Parts: sequence; structure tokens; C-alpha cells
Amino acid sequence: MPQNLIRGYEIRLASPECHPGSDRLRAFISLEDDISEVLPYLNAELVGFDYHHQDKILLWANNGKIYAFRPHEIAIAPVLDNEEAQELTNNIIHTVNDVWQQRDKIQPNFEGRKRPPSLLDIYKLLPSTNCKECGFPTCMAFAATLRNDSSKSSLCPYLSEQEYARLLDKG
Ligand code: SF4
Repeated sequence: MPQNLIRGYEIRLASPECHPGSDRLRAFISLEDDISEVLPYLNAELVGFDYHHQDKILLWANNGKIYAFRPHEIAIAPVLDNEEAQELTNNIIHTVNDVWQQRDKIQPNFEGRKRPPSLLDIYKLLPSTNCKECGFPTCMAFAATLRNDSSKSSLCPYLSEQEYARLLDKG
């Protein structure tokens, strides 16, 4: 049977430093084992995360909780009480061990989340003629919809798809 990556841990509950005494707690799971190696595989498998490979930090949002993975710690917030902390801990440790055991079938991802380009950077790619062919009253209004993903770049016939793709790639 393949070996689990996480074999021993301890859970500690704490109030957030910014809200001492708050009933929205944070669970800190201290890990005996270093989980650095699994982070790029978790990054590939989990949806809704951010990853800093150099700093060995993976952030993941799931079911209203934020998980922060570090080499010897997983932090989860917000957490209501010990019972919920234990349940979330069991689940996340199972996930980490499962991904570790499946890693041969997973393409690791070392990239962090791409940031959307700034409104100004998108606007600079448009001709500023406000011709309205895209269906928006101004180029700036169209740029704003591109930035929040609520329209398609192809709606502006004057926007170079190549240049726009290059801007998105910069992340
Ligand atoms: S079609 Fe292009 S140039 Fe015309 S208003 Fe829309 S974004 Fe501006």
C-alpha cells in the first residue's frame, strides 16, 4: 500500500490576530511531515487557488473556507469550533494524501494565478474612437467589460487578438 505523505499532525484553534475574541476561528494544523513536494500537484488538482512556488504557499478557497498550505502547516479559516476543525482537517488530510498517491498521473503546476490586466492596459490596445461598433458607448466602457470577463474581445473589430492574448499572458 502506498505511503501517506501526512502521517502525524496536531490541530490548534486561534482567533484571528485582527479580531481577538472573535467567534470566527482559524484552525492551524501542524504537520510532522514536509508537504512542499505535493504543493504543485495540489495546485494542479484544486480549483480556485493561488500559488507561490518560490515561497511554498498555496491558497485554496472551498465551500466558504480559505486554506493556506505551507511546508509544515495547513491553516483553515473561518472555523466554528473544534468539531468542525476536526472534520475539515480529516477531509483536507485525506485530499493531500490522495493527491500525493496519485501524483504519477498528475501534471504538476508551478504557476500562480494570472492577474487580469489593468483597465488602462486594455484601453491602450483600443483605438479610442468610441465608434460603438462593439455595442458599448465608449472604448473605455468596452475595456471595462473585457476586464471583468463580461464580453468578448472579438466584439471590437479594431482590437488585435494577438496583442490582447499577449497582454493576458503577461498575467
Ligand atoms: S468597437 Fe472598438 S473602437 Fe469602437 S467603441 Fe468599441 S472598443 Fe472602441
